[in-house]
Amino acid sequence: MKVISNLPKPGEKGPTPDTLASCRPGCGACCIAPSITSPIPGMPNGKPAGVRCVQLDESYLCRLFGDPRRPSVCAQFHFDRELCGSNRSQALERIAWLECGTSAG
Ligand code: SF4
Repeated sequence: MKVISNLPKPGEKGPTPDTLASCRPGCGACCIAPSITSPIPGMPNGKPAGVRCVQLDESYLCRLFGDPRRPSVCAQFHFDRELCGSNRSQALERIAWLECGTSAG
């Protein structure tokens, strides 16, 4: 008999839809809505909020994925069901709202 060791034990919380969810391929909302202060190839001063990163390709994928020139902050964006919503529009709205609430201006 095969033992599946990662199943929750009685009383433990098992995987939830949130923990199983992942980034939507081709979304790109976090490459548009937030500001990025680090230099990006093609955008030496980073990018303002709401501006599409020049490294975001036509399929909404990062041209710099795996490239050391990709800003380290980009690797810190992770899927969050509440923030990302169920589609790109929701994600753009919610990230923009968050950006407004946290920017210094
Ligand atoms: S460098 Fe890549 S991951 Fe970072 S904002 Fe631009 S497209 Fe997105």
